[in-house]
Amino acid sequence: MLIFEKVSLLKNHISYSKKQGKSIGFVATMGALHSGHVSLVRQAKQRDSIVVVSIFVNPTQFNKQDDLVKYPRNNERDKRLLDEVDCDIVFIPSVEEMYPNKVESEDINLEGLDKNMEGTYRTNHFDGVATVVKRLFEIISPDRAYFGLKDFQQYLIVKHISNVLKLGPEVIGLEIERNEKGLALSSRNERLSESEKEEALIIYQSINWAKKNYQNLSPQNLINKLKLDFEKSNLDLEYIEICDPLSLNPIKHWSEYKEARIFIAANLGKVRLIDNDSLF
Ligand code: AMP
Repeated sequence: MLIFEKVSLLKNHISYSKKQGKSIGFVATMGALHSGHVSLVRQAKQRDSIVVVSIFVNPTQFNKQDDLVKYPRNNERDKRLLDEVDCDIVFIPSVEEMYPNKVESEDINLEGLDKNMEGTYRTNHFDGVATVVKRLFEIISPDRAYFGLKDFQQYLIVKHISNVLKLGPEVIGLEIERNEKGLALSSRNERLSESEKEEALIIYQSINWAKKNYQNLSPQNLINKLKLDFEKSNLDLEYIEICDPLSLNPIKHWSEYKEARIFIAANLGKVRLIDNDSLF
């Protein structure tokens, strides 16, 4: 496994590999890796001859300084884990390598996909995501980029900018990895105690309840019922939304859409958790 910290050296290596006819698969991460990340790498390995994983805690996508500072970092452990799953290249740039001029987001038109849900609660978050993903795509020139559906809105926005700005890669969304009880894996879970992990299961349970019962309730009544459950828990709910997975428009009547997806975000103490799944 090769480790690069410099943009220019990585670019040279990739252009050499491409000349040899190798296809490049790319997984962007912020490190503190878990089985969710590993599953993206494994699936990338099945399709592409060289898999590049980036580890970069991108400052421009954090709207709270505290969250950025407390974001778990463990590069040595991450490198060992990636080596074990036969990752080919790890790219660990510094902030200066990624933002040689100013550490700020570019103005990229996200056509409203950033307006609700995560966009409402994390101001300018997706401007930061779009900026860093565009830069990573330009450096790595992947044939395919693999993103987790856990961050569904992010996946949709990345797919959108990749198409509109013709950045190159096909953007592939992969299923959410969960622990044995159903909690969606997340680097932030490292900051939860065992009992908090149990309490956090209300998110998964709510999604499952919605999947089983949505036909008997309107979207708004379904959301209201689930909100009542959260009021009885220790979680501080940010949103429950039911949206069309293509436009992310909120769904008012089931019959108006061919597909629907439920999205939940909540805080447990200072740890922010998100999850989502398809209803139909
Ligand atoms: P992050 O390090 O949180 O920025 O995540 C890097 C990539 O891993 C993103 O594409 C995430 O959507 C994906 N990812 C994070 N958690 C999971 C999970 N539990 N299952 C599948 N993919 C995930």
